[in-house]
Amino acid sequence: MNAILEKGLNPRPAINPLLCMGCTNCVVLCRKLGPNVLAVIDGTTRVVRPMNCITDGMCMLACPTQAIVLGEDGDGSCPAHAA
Ligand code: SF4
Repeated sequence: MNAILEKGLNPRPAINPLLCMGCTNCVVLCRKLGPNVLAVIDGTTRVVRPMNCITDGMCMLACPTQAIVLGEDGDGSCPAHAA
């Protein structure tokens, strides 16, 4: 992630819908901490308020299936999330 920050990009969560089981752990934690970036829609977490992201990575830690990574501007470009 340091490389992303050095490039001046704003990393945001990218969610792999194949790994997300819609448990809401990330959504609840992010809401409790304040940013409230995420929501579960149709059983899968989505980034609904990307500009609120403070890049603390807590959503990643909360996810039991490692469905979340911080990508460059949340574009899902992380190779781990390539379909
Ligand atoms: S914590 Fe992971 S599995 Fe649970 S809703 Fe969030 S992205 Fe999906």
